[in-house]
Amino acid sequence: MLSDLIINAAILISFLSIANQFYRDRDAEIQSRPIFKLLAGVVCGILGVLLIWYSVRIQNKTLVDFRNIATLLAATVGGGLSAVVSGLVMGGFRIAYFGLNKYSEAGAVVIILVTVGISLIFKTRRPLGKKWLVSTIYMTIVSCGVYFYIFQKNISILFAIYPYFILGTFVVSYTVYKYMIYLNNMSLLFIKLKEESTKDYLTGLNNVREFNKLFRLVIEKAVSTNQKFSLLLIDIDFFKKINDTHGHQAGDKVLKEIGKILRQNCRADDKISRNGGEEFSILLENASNSKAIEIAERIRKIIAENEFEISYGRNINITVSIGISSYPETVTDITQIIERADDALYKAKRTGRNLVVSDKVISE
Ligand code: GH3
Ligand code: MG
Ligand code: MG
Repeated sequence: MLSDLIINAAILISFLSIANQFYRDRDAEIQSRPIFKLLAGVVCGILGVLLIWYSVRIQNKTLVDFRNIATLLAATVGGGLSAVVSGLVMGGFRIAYFGLNKYSEAGAVVIILVTVGISLIFKTRRPLGKKWLVSTIYMTIVSCGVYFYIFQKNISILFAIYPYFILGTFVVSYTVYKYMIYLNNMSLLFIKLKEESTKDYLTGLNNVREFNKLFRLVIEKAVSTNQKFSLLLIDIDFFKKINDTHGHQAGDKVLKEIGKILRQNCRADDKISRNGGEEFSILLENASNSKAIEIAERIRKIIAENEFEISYGRNINITVSIGISSYPETVTDITQIIERADDALYKAKRTGRNLVVSDKVISE
C-alpha cells in the first residue's frame, strides 16, 4: 500500500514538473483562450486516468485513488471549463475500461459532484490556498459519502478505507499544492531574471548586453538582405552638471524621462537602448541616412523643448547631441558603424552641442 502511495505521489510530482516546462513562458492571452483551457482539461484528465490506473490497494481489493487532485489542478490552471473537461476524460475512461457497474456508477457520481463543486469553489474570489483547502475538504466529504453508500453493509472495509483515504488525500493535496506554488514562484523568478538580464533597470530600455546582441542580429540581416540601416548615438549634454547642481536623484529622473521620450518617438521595431551612463542608442532598420537625420532632429528638438520636472514644481531644460552613421550610405564597412557614429557624436559635442551630426559630414 505504501508503494502504491509513493507511485501516486511520483506521478503527480513528475506531472507537475513536466507541465511546468510548457507553462513556464506563460502568456496570459494564450492561457485565457478556450482551446488552452480545453487542452489543460484533457491533460489533467489523462493525469486523473493515470491516478485511477495506479490506485492504492487496501486489503488487497479495495481501491482508493487521488484522481480528484487532477480535477483540482485543472481548475487551478484553467478554471471551471478545464475541471469539467478533466472530469469527462476520467469518467469516459472509467466507463470504457471498467464498463457500467455499481462501482463505475458510484465513480461517475463522485466525478460529477467533485467537478461541479470544484468549479463553483473556483468561481469565488478567495485566495488560491483557501480554494484549494475548501475543495480538498469538499471532495473528501463527497468521496467518503459515496464510499459509505457502497460499503454501508461492510463497516470494516469503511474503517479500513477512511483513515487512509482522508489522511492520504490531505497529505497528497498539501504536497501537490506546495510543490505547485514552489514551481510557480520559480517560474516567476525565471521570467523576471530573463527580462532583467536584457533591460536597463532605470529606463526599462534595452541594456548594453542586449544592445550588443541586437546589433549583431541587425547587421547580419542588413548585410544579407542588402537593407539600409542607421545607428543613432545620443548623449546628454553637460549631464554631470545636472547631477552636481540638482543631485543624483534628479539626474535619474531625467534619464527616465529621456527613455520615455525616446520610446514615444520611435517605431515599435526600432531598438532603443541605454548603452551606459547618459548615453543612449537607437538601431533603425530600413532607415536611410536622410530618414535617420529627420528622426534624430525630431528627437533633439522634442528634448530641447521639454520641461523636465526634477522635483515638485521644479523644472529644468536639457539638450542632447546625436551622432549618426548609416549603412551603406555613409559607411560601407558595417562593422565600423558604431565607431563612425561615435565620431559624429564627438563632432556634435565639439561644435556646440544640442546638435545632430551624421558621419556623412565628416567624410566630406
Ligand atoms: P558632455 O556634454 O560632454 O557629454 O558632458 P557630460 O557632463 O554629460 O559628460 P560626462 O561624461 O562628463 O558626465 C557624465 C555623467 O553622467 C557623470 C555621471 O555621474 C553621470 N551618470 C552616469 N550614470 C548615471 C546614472 O545612472 N544616474 C545619474 N544620475 N547620473 C549618471
Ligand atoms: Mg557621455
Ligand atoms: Mg554627456
